[in-house]
Amino acid sequence: MSDKGTPVLAAVCGLYCGGCALYIATQRNDIKTLAQLAETYGTAVENLKCDGCRSGRVSSYCGDCGLIKCASEKGYQSCGECDENSTCELLVTFQKAKPDRKDIRKDFKRISEVGVHAWVAEMRQRYACPACGYPNSAYDLKCRKCGHEPANAYVAEHMDEIKEHLKDQKNG
Ligand SMILES: [Zn+2]
Repeated sequence: MSDKGTPVLAAVCGLYCGGCALYIATQRNDIKTLAQLAETYGTAVENLKCDGCRSGRVSSYCGDCGLIKCASEKGYQSCGECDENSTCELLVTFQKAKPDRKDIRKDFKRISEVGVHAWVAEMRQRYACPACGYPNSAYDLKCRKCGHEPANAYVAEHMDEIKEHLKDQKNG
């Protein structure tokens, strides 16, 4: 990661890749979690490995992202730079689809206030376990290292929607 340019973990859509279960499992070489996720998504483990939105290796889950394509065509680093983002059907649909995306508009605002590098540092804290500092995803109810509940500040804030989503995923 260079000081210039956009950090690899600041995704085009406004998400922090460090809060994604696919990214975290890849970085830890946690094949067990990747295998579970591969089953959920009906794909192979190899397809899910990800080093972040702006890296050379993006999971198939994000690999065909229309937002990345659109932003690049318009010459934007992220959807946050686009004047049309509040009415963009692609982004509105994306945000509504899953509870890990609740904060993206807040994040666009925060990035414009403090800059993307400071924002990434804030996100590192936001997704870390408050007890032991271990990075957890937006879907980890309990810390994957020490078991602390909730696993991070993001989960604490959106607990109800996250629980609901995990339940639906299990039943679906
Ligand atoms: Zn912990």
